[in-house]
Amino acid sequence: MAKLKFQTPTGMHDILPEDQLYYQKVFDTAKKLFDYYGYSRIETPILESTDLFVRSVGENTDIVEKEMYSFKTKGGDMVVLRPEGTAPVMRAYFQNGMVSMPQPVKLWYYGPFFRYERPQAGRYRQFHQFGAEVIGDSDPLFDMQTIVILYNILEDLKIKNLIVRINSIGDETCRGEYKKALSKFLRNKKNDLCRDCQKRSKTNILRVLDCKEPKCREIISQAPQTMDYLCESCKNHLKEVLEYLEELKIPYILDPFLVRGLDYYTKTVFEVETQDNEGGRQESLAGGGRYDILGKAIAGEAVPACGMAVGVERIVQKMRDNNVDVSTKRSAEVFLAQIGPIAKKRGMVIMEEFRRANMKVAECFNKDSLKYQLAKANKLGINNVVIIGQKEAIQNIAIIRNMETGKQSEIPQEDIVKEIKKRIKEEN
Ligand code: AMP
Repeated sequence: MAKLKFQTPTGMHDILPEDQLYYQKVFDTAKKLFDYYGYSRIETPILESTDLFVRSVGENTDIVEKEMYSFKTKGGDMVVLRPEGTAPVMRAYFQNGMVSMPQPVKLWYYGPFFRYERPQAGRYRQFHQFGAEVIGDSDPLFDMQTIVILYNILEDLKIKNLIVRINSIGDETCRGEYKKALSKFLRNKKNDLCRDCQKRSKTNILRVLDCKEPKCREIISQAPQTMDYLCESCKNHLKEVLEYLEELKIPYILDPFLVRGLDYYTKTVFEVETQDNEGGRQESLAGGGRYDILGKAIAGEAVPACGMAVGVERIVQKMRDNNVDVSTKRSAEVFLAQIGPIAKKRGMVIMEEFRRANMKVAECFNKDSLKYQLAKANKLGINNVVIIGQKEAIQNIAIIRNMETGKQSEIPQEDIVKEIKKRIKEEN
């Protein structure tokens, strides 16, 4: 086939009918668990002011530096297709007066996000995330519960071999000391770092720990660890989160070099992945952490909070790999066959009657051959077929055929639904 003139933009994809079952299952499972844990759903606009992310995610992060779909509106405002969900939810929290609600406020969301990234397997420019935020409480219990909910959702979706990577990157008190130590360590290794990391070591040094380049990873493996620089309060916080995880039997690895690509994190950071390849590091399925300084960046008011975000496309891929059953199709209980234009109109009316009775009907309204329609009913394994021809339509009757026995009987049209219900009941 010749290349089509119009295709989806690079890195974006159609979610086709056969994909929808997976996406629906992810949504339904997330909703069920969030409902259970007392989270309310929130939806924020796809567009937000560019500055919201510059201030919160951070100027020297990949998202803000390279990945934002940012543009000027006709009115001259700088807006962006949202690259992530936490900053918008925090904005909504302040804008809608949730500060004065009982704390913590627990919110969850689902929707599309946009990042101008280099497309590759599992990395899109438009992708979906669901996520959750607990705003207004600093208790490590909520860090733990965020991870537990995430773990439970993924487990309910039959994703196997899950593992949580966790670390603490400290807070404003202790992170400075760590950054100094890291800077000192990297001072005479700059030339061996990749170009990005050479820049990062000046603008956002923690991001060097995040680099995927093998030569940088090699250097990083010798670097000082955040854990050794935590202040008392951050150390205790991490300890409590880990104790909770152990209590709840959530498998985790303490990863001293895990930082996350966004500036607003404090204390706990985590990612979830599957351990499918022996030892091999996987793309993360989800990530999150605590962000006690985000409120200050957005509204000038510090409010403790933590949350997580899950990549739906990556989850769907895992579900496909694991052959997870997502079928929800309810099979039809009756087949409606018609011959001729008057019968077709009558068939439409009867179809509505079945719908009102909450019964599922199969039909082939675009075919007039009775033989074809009966063969179709047979193929679908439907035993009761309602047949209406010209004569039946005029006389207000219908034929009901039992496909198994081949027996046919005539009944008044107003009795069709009642009669079919009775027959199905007798058959079961
Ligand atoms: P982040 O918001 O970067 O913490 O990402 C959270 C999760 O979203 C990741 O673990 C991925 O599963 C997913 N994700 C992030 N970026 C992309 C992308 N470009 N394409 C598909 N999924 C993504």
